[in-house]
Amino acid sequence: WILDRRVAVPPGVLAPASERIATGDLEARVPEGPDGEFQRVAQAFNRMAESLQKAQDDIQERNAELQDALTTLREAQSELIQSEKLSAMGRMTAGVAHELNNPLASVMGYGQLLDRRLEEEGPLSPQEVQERFLAPLLEEAGRAQRLVRNFLRFSRRSEVELRPIPLREALGVVEGLREHAFRQEGLELVVDEVPDVHVRADADMLQSMILNVVNNALDAMRPQGRGTLRISGREDEGTVRLTFQDQGPGFSDPERAMEPFFTTKPVGEGTGLGLALVYRFVSLFGGVVHLENAPAGGARLEVTLPVVVQPQVEGEKGETEHPTVPVDTVPVDVENGGEKPGSQGRSRRILVVEDEAPLRDLQKRLLERLDATVVLTGTVDEAQAVLGEEEVDAVLSDVKMPGESGLELYRWILRTRPELSGRFLFVTGDVSQRELVELSERAPELFIHKPFDVGEYLSRVSALLE
Ligand code: ADP
Repeated sequence: WILDRRVAVPPGVLAPASERIATGDLEARVPEGPDGEFQRVAQAFNRMAESLQKAQDDIQERNAELQDALTTLREAQSELIQSEKLSAMGRMTAGVAHELNNPLASVMGYGQLLDRRLEEEGPLSPQEVQERFLAPLLEEAGRAQRLVRNFLRFSRRSEVELRPIPLREALGVVEGLREHAFRQEGLELVVDEVPDVHVRADADMLQSMILNVVNNALDAMRPQGRGTLRISGREDEGTVRLTFQDQGPGFSDPERAMEPFFTTKPVGEGTGLGLALVYRFVSLFGGVVHLENAPAGGARLEVTLPVVVQPQVEGEKGETEHPTVPVDTVPVDVENGGEKPGSQGRSRRILVVEDEAPLRDLQKRLLERLDATVVLTGTVDEAQAVLGEEEVDAVLSDVKMPGESGLELYRWILRTRPELSGRFLFVTGDVSQRELVELSERAPELFIHKPFDVGEYLSRVSALLE
């Protein structure tokens, strides 16, 4: 009995308790019993289990604290990114407004010129109107359209989302935004051959990254009033290397240029975050940044990014081009009558929901080209009332309107009139709402963007009716 109690039982009690501890159950304890020697062993064992349990609790608590800190850090980082973006936008706003004024001045100028010319000298030949007035006017309007579109794309705030992005497209957005600013300072922005590849990135961050580098080169070359920023790309063993080479004075301190808050620009102009964010974004995309002063002078920055081998089909969806009907096959001048395409069968009814009267009337005039009966409404409520009483063949809706938005109308149609969901088109100039951006990426066929091309507008509506 003594042998059993003193020699056999203690290890029999200790072994399973140790095993429980080993598998992570730190609650395991052994009974201490009355017996001297084993009691001490058991007490030591229990103390050890207790301190292990405390250490684990401490670690868990620390872990939770770290998680919280990480979340705060992420939030702060996203704020920082947004504030750097806002500051870049702020710096660009005046320039963009100025750039916008030029095409607008041309549009007004040509319009007034035509007005005066008609008043003073009577009718002109259609060819003359087109060549001398309409063509340059439309060209200038197109320039304004591209500018606004690029600016809005850049200003969008979005969650970080890494996906295959066509590199050329991102470069194109920045080029479109900045080439005029370069030209105005007597400088040149040249995008050389860049391979047509996709990189895994966040579209906004990729644009911001490129924009920061381009803006820095602009700032660096501005005082000298001449110089070129050349952007070129080369594909090499699964990566693409973008080189930004300018002809400015070069980095005064290349070692420190990427440090956060390092800036040589006057207060109010530089934040010192541009290149730090470039570094941060490129690392996030799995790439590397290298900067140096080129032997021949000027700053050179190289960004190497992994290439996505097979861009997802999803990416291609966005590129779906809708065939455009050349404008001249659809006479725009309604007053003169003329042939109306699609005039077989009964006249189709199209409901237009648009709060801006001029745009409502423009759409009416255009849609009458399709021999359609157009019902105009200015709010979602009015549209719902019409849909409750009449049959329509298609619905074209603005998004941002007083009262409910076009998105609400679309959801309502999906719920209550699903047969119309395939004959619905958003006609919108809004690209800032996240929900809208996501929807337009998933279903580009649902959208036509303002300002629209008349030919495209009509062909999209015709397709809808068919
Ligand atoms: P910021 O532009 O707000 O100063 P950045 O992080 O973008 O912040 O740039 C940090 C510094 O690096 C700049 O202040 C400038 O001194 C230097 N730098 C950046 N790009 C160039 C360039 N292309 N040429 C010369 N110096 C540059």
